[in-house]
Amino acid sequence: MTPPNEGADDAVLPFAVEALDCRGRAVRLGPAIDTILHRHGYPDAVARVLGEAAALTVLLGSSLKFEGRFQLQTKSDGPIEMIVVDFDAPDRIRATARFDAERVAALDAGARRTANLLGNGHLAMTIDRGSDASRYQGVVALEGGDFEEAAHQYFRQSEQIPTRVRLAVAEQFENGARSYRAGGLLTQFLPVSPERMRQPDLSPGDIPEGHPSRDMEEPAEDDAWVEAKALVDTVEDHELVDPNVSSERLLYRLFHQRGVRVFERQPVRESCRCSQDRVMAMMGRFSREDRADMVGDDGQIRITCEFCSRRYDLDPKTVEAEIGTEAGH
Ligand SMILES: [Zn+2]
Repeated sequence: MTPPNEGADDAVLPFAVEALDCRGRAVRLGPAIDTILHRHGYPDAVARVLGEAAALTVLLGSSLKFEGRFQLQTKSDGPIEMIVVDFDAPDRIRATARFDAERVAALDAGARRTANLLGNGHLAMTIDRGSDASRYQGVVALEGGDFEEAAHQYFRQSEQIPTRVRLAVAEQFENGARSYRAGGLLTQFLPVSPERMRQPDLSPGDIPEGHPSRDMEEPAEDDAWVEAKALVDTVEDHELVDPNVSSERLLYRLFHQRGVRVFERQPVRESCRCSQDRVMAMMGRFSREDRADMVGDDGQIRITCEFCSRRYDLDPKTVEAEIGTEAGH
């Protein structure tokens, strides 16, 4: 028997709701995110936050229309100090997190929310189009909020595109096995006329409440976007990760009264870019002394990829010979 949702996992589904001038993407990650999270063996709280970061990365990176990389990176003062997720167009994802295990364990179960695990810092999003093309980076502050809030703020400030993002991660128990799933939905208001994209300010600043100019600062939001936002806000976490609710079904549930069009599904797969050649190139960026310090008791240099945990055992003599040849000295 074929499961109803077969082929729906590890994929992005672009969509448009033309009656509301909205476009967006829905993502479902099953085996891809489960492989990444289980291989790292992170505590559950860390795994869930990294799962959300991965879903957001795929939602944003899958819009790239060229070969290149989208990278999402956090640096913050919470128990999770750093997250890096790479999306290599058109379909490859890898992810890693650095965290303080004691601080993660010290958080009460009820306090293990994304915002508390990240703390304050920043979220950087980098688009790298390749060696000789331009690199673009957008940065947004993490101020005790989660990834959804950071994404909203980013699109408001940097892109000025009204945007709604929903993210969720869950653990599924089936036939005695546990597996992670992640899901997300990004909806953007993209009318032909840019005046319709005006949004009220996030904070009215120093203008006192009741002051007439405070109201003048706030343009009314477009009715179409108000309606789209209200619909997106009805999405519950379980709908984003339920293996029996496909992205098509979720989008139909939300937008069927307005008519929703879905486009070709884009597959996503877990895949690391590390290789013997890249490890060797990295070794070349260290000094000869640093490389000598890396040699272990067994006489080998052992490098473990922090994304996929693959191990590279290098013979120092071979390393010096290859690097010496490449560098020409
Ligand atoms: Zn790797």
